[in-house]
Amino acid sequence: MIKIHLKDDRFEADVRAMVQAFYPKTLLYVVKDKTCLEEQKLKVTEPVDFTLDVDTALDDKNELKRNLYRDLSLRTGKKLPWGTLTGIRPTKIPMKLINEGISDDEILRHLSEKYLVRRDKAELSVNIAHAEHEILGQVGKDTYSLYIHIPFCRTRCAYCSFTSFPVKAYEDMMIPYVEAVIKELTYIADKKGRKPATIYIGGGTPTALSKDALRKLINKVAELFYHDNLLEWTVEAGRPDSIDEEKLHILKSAGVSRISINPQTMNQATLDIIGRNHSVDDIYHAYDMAVNAGFTNINTDLIMGLPNEGISEVKHTLSCIERLEPANLTVHSLARKHNADMTINDRAYEDYALNDTEEMMAASMETAKKLNLKPYYLYRQRAMSGNQENIGFAKSGYEGYYNILIMEEYHSIISAGAGAITKIVDVPGHLNKRIENVKDVNDYIKRIDEMIERKEGI
Ligand code: SF4
Repeated sequence: MIKIHLKDDRFEADVRAMVQAFYPKTLLYVVKDKTCLEEQKLKVTEPVDFTLDVDTALDDKNELKRNLYRDLSLRTGKKLPWGTLTGIRPTKIPMKLINEGISDDEILRHLSEKYLVRRDKAELSVNIAHAEHEILGQVGKDTYSLYIHIPFCRTRCAYCSFTSFPVKAYEDMMIPYVEAVIKELTYIADKKGRKPATIYIGGGTPTALSKDALRKLINKVAELFYHDNLLEWTVEAGRPDSIDEEKLHILKSAGVSRISINPQTMNQATLDIIGRNHSVDDIYHAYDMAVNAGFTNINTDLIMGLPNEGISEVKHTLSCIERLEPANLTVHSLARKHNADMTINDRAYEDYALNDTEEMMAASMETAKKLNLKPYYLYRQRAMSGNQENIGFAKSGYEGYYNILIMEEYHSIISAGAGAITKIVDVPGHLNKRIENVKDVNDYIKRIDEMIERKEGI
């Protein structure tokens, strides 16, 4: 355990994130001057490796982070690829500077000097900022996107931190849930009076809905929101065991333009460890069905750093992906979320190795290059394996608009469904207001009128 001594509350989140990035597996314990006495009362059973005194008297957060970075780098002999950048989108800074007309060379120097970002990561973020900039240029400013949340999954994946409800226990709730969502969507359609630029149906696994429920929802969305200039309509069909020919036909005939079929890994042993409950063959079969149904824009998600996976397992997965040739590939570094089964029941996973993802991310980039997929969006989360990043790659013209629109807070996202969050953006890049729906499915159905009322006045 590392004890972190802070004088006050300022910069606590930044300090925690930075220390955890250098010591990903070590428990942190923060003590502030005012809580020192209370500390005596707490039963801290773990031995303290060392105490870190952080001088929060510095007003310049970046200077404080640079000092802390250098201290931790000396202690560990490590350097972080993204330097002191924690809690901020890596493209945010280059994006802002590109908009101000600053040259790429100057942006790279700024990222290196002010945030200690490694050269290759700085170049990646600048290249992606340019790609995002170009894509956003195609979306009118006075637009919005529609998001619909379907919080059902067949089983729970070990790394998942989303709220999702098991299909088996909620089978009877699917039609009432979809009816409540449709009520909210009808209100949105009436109120907005104009169609969205993009539609995204996510979850959970939207295709885990029963056929009847899926058909009802998709046909209504098409009736209310489809138009000829819709830039994109994505439906996450994440789990290959959630789709069949009929469900794919429902999506395709309604106008869905992009789906996700997410292997995460193509190693059966790992699929079993992470509780996916389906086979590698199911992934190939689902992918073939989607191609045969006419989908040309298919995204495949992969996770680097899954339990017991090293570079050879990842290379195997990547060679399978090369055979599939998806138009979109999204590569995540495993993030340890506090409410994921892997964290809650960590003892059940302690025999599995969790390897650094740096080499794995590099191998993914090679595969993306071979497939002619270019990086177009990038984000980082807390507690990411190897302090790496998540990158979306796409064939030219197949980039996922919604991903960028929400990441860059470019326009408002009006959302429906349990746990869905509406984000109001008046000026691109500035989130003005968040309106949250209740997360529980039963609650959502019962309180649908209240969910609608919450949207009044936006
Ligand atoms: S399919 Fe996605 S949402 Fe469902 S449990 Fe797995 S990670 Fe979570």
